[in-house]
Amino acid sequence: MVSEMRIVVMCKSVPDTMDVRFDPQTKTMVRAGVATTINPFDLFAIEAALRLREQHGGTVTAMTMGPSAAQRELQDAIAMGCDDAVLLSSPAYAGSDTWATAYALACAVRYMGEVDLIVCGRQAQDGDTGQVGPGIARQLGWPQVTYVSRVCELDLMARRIVVERLLEDGRQTLAAQLPAVMTVLKDANLPRTATLRGMRRAHRAVVPTWGPEITGADPRLVGLDGSPTRVVRVFSPTARQGQVQWITAATPQKVAEGLLAALTAEQLV
Ligand SMILES: Cc1cc2nc3c(=O)[nH]c(=O)nc-3n(C[C@H](O)[C@H](O)[C@H](O)COP(=O)(O)OP(=O)(O)OC[C@H]3O[C@@H](n4cnc5c(N)ncnc54)[C@H](O)[C@@H]3O)c2cc1C
Repeated sequence: MVSEMRIVVMCKSVPDTMDVRFDPQTKTMVRAGVATTINPFDLFAIEAALRLREQHGGTVTAMTMGPSAAQRELQDAIAMGCDDAVLLSSPAYAGSDTWATAYALACAVRYMGEVDLIVCGRQAQDGDTGQVGPGIARQLGWPQVTYVSRVCELDLMARRIVVERLLEDGRQTLAAQLPAVMTVLKDANLPRTATLRGMRRAHRAVVPTWGPEITGADPRLVGLDGSPTRVVRVFSPTARQGQVQWITAATPQKVAEGLLAALTAEQLV
């Protein structure tokens, strides 16, 4: 007999602004006083997880590592339809880079026990590395399928998932053994909006907070000290100076000739 499918969807709480500021001392993002939202890419991950639950049964747990205020984003995930949520929050996690984040999330999944599938977004809107999903897979020793645009098949008996990946030069169909980690593209679906019933459920939901002392994560491997990344400098690149040359002529033919002459002069053709 196959037990109920258990999916964990990773959603990051990100600043709800494009005006991201950095602390020059710690070289980390200034988060205090900044409104937050679920990482937009993770809405597609939540939708993918909910659709799989609708087809195969089971439960979907939303998980985030962040400050205590990130509970709001988890409630939003429950309002969309997730069954429950877990917040990883502790002073020990502060300053974690992608490696430490992936380790902390992987420890929490291991602590949960039987999990069949982890679904992540393609990337976070702020950090933008796309490393955390593959990092979790590496930490758990599970197969990973990234850039997924469609789940073609999920066979719980055979413990197998078949997906379509969208690549720059085409599509690729790939099968992986469960448990696995999947990162989802925004082409995968159209995320649903929260229902009134979902919002009521979210309002009542009790979201547990886990620190390393609960999940069993080694405190030396999380937080700023546990992060191998060293940020040497954070800066906004200065705008490049360029010159514009307008080519005008009486006919399109003459404009094309002028353009060709200009490109030839610059040795670009
Ligand atoms: C030295 C250093 C210190 C840092 N300090 C902090 C800090 O104090 N606080 C902080 O928030 N960031 C901090 N960061 C940024 C941090 O590395 C990344 O924001 C975080 O690890 C996720 O990486 P990313 O944003 O590139 O996510 P990506 O790898 O682009 O995210 C891909 C997917 O992984 C999942 N995911 C990513 N992060 C989380 C998460 N936290 N919870 C659940 N799911 C997630 C989501 O599904 C997401 O779509 C620090 C970075 C460095 C280098």
